[in-house]
Amino acid sequence: MNDATVTSPTAAPRPDPASLARHEARLAAELGMLGLPAKNWVPLRHGPDGRPLLDAVIVGAGMYGLGAAIALVLQGIRNIAVLDRSPEGREGPWVTFARMETLRSPKTLPGPANGIPALTFEAWYGAKYGAAAWDVLYKAPNGIWQDYLCWLRNVLALPVRNGAEVAAIEPHAGFVRLTLADGGVLHARRVVLATGRNPDAASIPDFVDPDLLPDYAGHTCADIDFQALSGRRVAVVGSGASAWDNAAEALEAGASVDMFVRRESLPQVNKGRAPIATSPGFFRGWSALPDATRWAMAHYASRHPAPPPHETVMRVLASPGFTISFSSPVSKAFRDGSAVGLAVNGVRRNFDYLIVGTGFGATVDDVPLLRQLRHHIALWGDLYDPPAELRSHTLSRSPWVGRGFELRERAPGACAGLSRIHVFSPVAATSMGTVCTDVPGVNVGADMLSRFIVEATAAEDIEAIGASIDAFAETELIGTPFHVP
Ligand SMILES: Cc1cc2nc3c(=O)[nH]c(=O)nc-3n(C[C@H](O)[C@H](O)[C@H](O)COP(=O)(O)OP(=O)(O)OC[C@H]3O[C@@H](n4cnc5c(N)ncnc54)[C@H](O)[C@@H]3O)c2cc1C
Repeated sequence: MNDATVTSPTAAPRPDPASLARHEARLAAELGMLGLPAKNWVPLRHGPDGRPLLDAVIVGAGMYGLGAAIALVLQGIRNIAVLDRSPEGREGPWVTFARMETLRSPKTLPGPANGIPALTFEAWYGAKYGAAAWDVLYKAPNGIWQDYLCWLRNVLALPVRNGAEVAAIEPHAGFVRLTLADGGVLHARRVVLATGRNPDAASIPDFVDPDLLPDYAGHTCADIDFQALSGRRVAVVGSGASAWDNAAEALEAGASVDMFVRRESLPQVNKGRAPIATSPGFFRGWSALPDATRWAMAHYASRHPAPPPHETVMRVLASPGFTISFSSPVSKAFRDGSAVGLAVNGVRRNFDYLIVGTGFGATVDDVPLLRQLRHHIALWGDLYDPPAELRSHTLSRSPWVGRGFELRERAPGACAGLSRIHVFSPVAATSMGTVCTDVPGVNVGADMLSRFIVEATAAEDIEAIGASIDAFAETELIGTPFHVP
């Protein structure tokens, strides 16, 4: 397991707790000046069990779940819960299965700060480690990024519950019922699925014999014992960033690594780094585009994956024992006694362990919480028929979500409450673009999601809001000649 705070040459310098405390005091003062977080304004409703309904439950306390929670809380939707099955500090990939030393993205990205400068990664890092340390920082080490996310939740006292796995969600008119793995039940007006790219969605190709897992093969997000691979022959299938990160870990543990790549060469350009790809026009504009344009853009993105980061390639090349074979699709991976057999271009190769670096699925089938609802969920394949050259099984199986990331019924009226479920994860990317995928899009995505929920909640509650205004009777003119008792 990679713990960048301990092992990485990019580890942070000594923290300055007094400086961080001053920063937190400044943050509190600035939020106070802005009147944030807004007071809770949502009238209380009751669930079918007679208990107060939560206004929103966010499933997942990773970067996107926290971003959504911050956006809602700042806007006065404060009767919420954020649930994560992981222990505190181990949400998401950063210190679990992300095996790079630093984030791939630049250090200057704000993080899920929701427009508050003191909540940005730069402000937090500078306060904790000093401005000079910030100046020399190359990119955010994984462990430091996780620390920053933990700080955000703590400094804002977000209502996160760890060790809380949601096992099922069931929409109804007016609310969604959530069943937890421990048998507990919650009712909420809206559910936000911020479940990320997690092991549930690990994509294992059909050519991998399931018998290989877990002793002879593991996906890049599996809990691989790299030390046990010392002196062994490891095959890596795939050439994305995580495949390279895992190759580096294996090499550094003393294994030899053979990487098998279908393509003739590595992709050269990260299209996501084009300046306009992180502009408001691209982020906010995507969801307003016609279906044909969104499909074509999503199809283009799927055909233009990012190359592995430069530093990741150099990390791999720094260790002996690495071989890469291009134009080498693996057609079969199977168990052969105590070895892993691979068929590559008709040639049989033997290894001790196989790392499957084929990424994550992003269809409705890749979100366990949506599986039991999938027959009700409108998918892109139901609503859009692309030209033959743009056909894609993955895109056609992705949910067609509205501009608040809300699901839509396949047959109107057949599944009451379905639109109370918001998919705030890469599974919504065909509909929403990159505001639900990576670090750059998190603030715009959280803004779009929270605005929709604020507007929808206000519309549902307008009578209660009106009654509350009508009941307000604080008289202004006591002590003047014009006071009417
Ligand atoms: C290996 C890796 C490296 C990446 N590096 C970068 C990078 O450098 N730069 C960048 O911009 N993007 C990167 N990304 C993409 C993206 O930024 C991350 O995936 C990021 O973690 C997304 O945040 P998230 O909140 O959507 O998901 P996550 O951080 O994965 O959080 C989802 C959370 O949901 C919880 N959860 C899931 N199901 C349930 C359930 N049923 N009940 C309760 N909790 C549940 C999980 O425990 C998890 O903590 C990377 C992704 C991966 C996989």
